[in-house]
Amino acid sequence: VRGIDILRNPKLNKGTAFTVKERQLMGIHGLIPPVVRTMEEQTVRVLTNFRKRSSDLDRFIYLISLQDRNERLFYKVLSENVEDMMPIVYTPTVGQACEHYGIVFRRPRGLFISINDRGHIYDILCNWPERNVKAIVVTDGERILGLGDLGVYGMGIPVGKLSLYTALGGIHPAKCLPILLDVGTNNKKLHSDPLYIGRQENRVTGPEYDDFVDEFMHAVQRRYGSTCLIQFEDFGNHNAFRFLEKYRNKFCTFNDDIQGTAAVAAAGVFASLRITKKKLIDNVFLFQGAGEANIGIAQLLSLAMQEEGATEAEAISKIWMVDSRGLLTKERPSGGISGHKADFAKDFKHMNNLEEIVEELKPSAIIGAAAVAGAFTEKVIKSMGKYNERPIIFALSNPTSKAECSAEDAYTLTEGRCVFASGSPFPSFTINGKTLYPGQGNNAYIFPGVALGVITCGVRHVPDLLFLRAAQRLAELVTDEHLAEGRVYPPLSDIQEVSLNIAVDLAEYCYTNGLASAYPEPDDKEEYVKSFMYTSEYEIFEPETWEWPDKA
Ligand code: NAP
Ligand code: MN
Repeated sequence: VRGIDILRNPKLNKGTAFTVKERQLMGIHGLIPPVVRTMEEQTVRVLTNFRKRSSDLDRFIYLISLQDRNERLFYKVLSENVEDMMPIVYTPTVGQACEHYGIVFRRPRGLFISINDRGHIYDILCNWPERNVKAIVVTDGERILGLGDLGVYGMGIPVGKLSLYTALGGIHPAKCLPILLDVGTNNKKLHSDPLYIGRQENRVTGPEYDDFVDEFMHAVQRRYGSTCLIQFEDFGNHNAFRFLEKYRNKFCTFNDDIQGTAAVAAAGVFASLRITKKKLIDNVFLFQGAGEANIGIAQLLSLAMQEEGATEAEAISKIWMVDSRGLLTKERPSGGISGHKADFAKDFKHMNNLEEIVEELKPSAIIGAAAVAGAFTEKVIKSMGKYNERPIIFALSNPTSKAECSAEDAYTLTEGRCVFASGSPFPSFTINGKTLYPGQGNNAYIFPGVALGVITCGVRHVPDLLFLRAAQRLAELVTDEHLAEGRVYPPLSDIQEVSLNIAVDLAEYCYTNGLASAYPEPDDKEEYVKSFMYTSEYEIFEPETWEWPDKA
């Protein structure tokens, strides 16, 4: 590549940061304004532009355009402004971007694989220009955030997640590949949307769909090897659990909606125990909702109790769940219980009013992820406060409009005694002269660090114990000062450090337990992990030159 192509390549382009010498040597002199800026000066300009936009969607488009223009500058700005920018490149704004993807779409990013490509998925993977991909995030767009089936418009999600792999986990962007599997969409609105960018028919299901996903998994393994991490994201509930079971021991894969959520919520619980001064097994957990999020959390908490010496039956006896048909009990008027729910069903009378269930079970922790707004009523919260000195109340449903209760409600109705965390951010709240900061159980505390650890060690499959380790490590990083302010997570601005800590911890664990395949085993795991990490500093393109003696 020479000249103008360099400027058009976001991986090489430095914009006004090219030195005069570089401009002359590379044949781009005169193609950029005559000023030479440092990366820091460029950062200030980007931030000014970012803040000037009038809507979050405009900010999203601005950042994506920057990513398309100057990749290193994008990652530098994103990683230095996580608190401001994560809500733009990821939830909640990315959700809006997906809904309007037909308009937002500028330049293709990632791979689109259609059901019409059956038999040729490997060929499509070969079209991707990077040969050393280590992390794939894949979706079929069926359940994008809480927004439902957005089909191909869901591509915003893998793209956003992988931006966080780089910005928060230091995984090189060239190693990351976002993929959308287009099997159609059941969203009728998209069938007649003239801007839609995918197959305008109902989803292909059944064996045809399963074979397609299976071909995809094998094609990835053939192209990128068995240590390429495949993260499933925003698949429908019925497929998410099935694929996790089917592939977890055969491929390097995990499902962030199930396992990532589980780890971040469990970390919040572990940190809370330092406030309530209870052992895990001495709690009674009540889950509102028994879907991807809550089943994942319940399974991981059960595993944690067993790690501490409880039997499986003892662990499960401490975990109660409620789904759309009421308390999960073995005998229900509405009939059978499917899948993983059955593991948690109790021999107990049928009940379906949450307020009454709380009064009956007197849980020490209540965790909501059913997307039923306001499910934690005044009565529910007050009961929690009545039976517990420090009740644990997690309102995990996203977005904010779906939360089970607000931080303010939880704090006021328990006289500031509850330990509160939520899925979406809530502002701090002052009660009795004390300011409390609600924890935000954002999966971004977990998946970048887990991915970094898994990739650097060459892990071939990702057991739940790794997520448990990650959760424990995250909880340890919560200081006593944080706890005193009501926080059960470190501040979002510390996520990069959290990710590195988790990755190093997992590296230790993986080498000790025979899960690592990258040999020889490095002595210093932290140095080793760091040596893999991407830096957003610019490359210097001025080649070193030297003179020969005249006679030669
Ligand atoms: P999901 O798999 O569709 O599960 C939803 C569950 O809620 C199902 O078990 C459903 O019952 C149950 N439910 C529905 N209506 C109910 C009602 N009236 N009473 C009790 N239970 C009811 O969804 P998901 O992936 O678990 O996500 C659920 C929520 O959690 C979403 O709002 C999501 O944004 C949030 N979430 C948060 C985080 C985070 O904070 N980090 C991460 C992931 C998800 P049936 O099984 O009977 O249908
Ligand atoms: Mn998700």
